Amino acid sequence: MTRAGSGSKSPAPARRILLLVGAVGAGKGTQASVLASRLGLVHLASGDLFRRAARDGTQLGRQAQAYMDRGELVPDDLTIAMVMQALSRPGAARGAILDGFPRTVAQAEALDGTLATQGERISRVVFIEVPVEELVIRVSGRWVCPTDGTPYHIETDPPRIPGVCDKDGTALVQRDDDQPEVVRARLAKQVPPMLEVIAHYERAGVVVRIDGRGGIDEVTARILAALAAGGVGS
Ligand SMILES: [Zn+2]
Repeated sequence: MTRAGSGSKSPAPARRILLLVGAVGAGKGTQASVLASRLGLVHLASGDLFRRAARDGTQLGRQAQAYMDRGELVPDDLTIAMVMQALSRPGAARGAILDGFPRTVAQAEALDGTLATQGERISRVVFIEVPVEELVIRVSGRWVCPTDGTPYHIETDPPRIPGVCDKDGTALVQRDDDQPEVVRARLAKQVPPMLEVIAHYERAGVVVRIDGRGGIDEVTARILAALAAGGVGS
């Protein structure tokens, strides 16, 4: 509980807006979720934003849903509007962790500009770095239950009986997206714009690079230590 709200018009406290960046398989979503609870920040994953806005039936949500129903990308201005709306909710009073947006320099510049209109900016960009070949192994180890969607991983989260869902006994399948060649192709497409986003924020001096190899807890500890250290190299 915070003490905010007792006064009639307390000034908005400076809050933390972190951006987590990492390629598919780098553990970005997992870390964002863990960090959000450890740091008392709200986790804003772009996919969840769209789903929540659509479910709540907001005007922005209905617009976004229409693009998704047509299999099109949700336009940047709409996404930014949803991010800003999410940031305006009470749950984001202490700050937020953005996950999955911005993905391009154009999006980053647009978001920076919108945040600046309310005197805010991305305070830190956490870049979780994992070698490409390890990413391929991580992602291609994923299997899923086609009945209930339960995810598994051959190495880190195997089902009790190999190849079978723990909950309903259905034979697990591998998504086409998780085939090694497909993962390599996705990375080849995803990594260059991601590095451009990193370069963009490096110019602002707010990037911390984290070794994303090892266990989830180890990586979380590295991120927390880096954030606590505060000073980010020029
Ligand atoms: Zn299942």
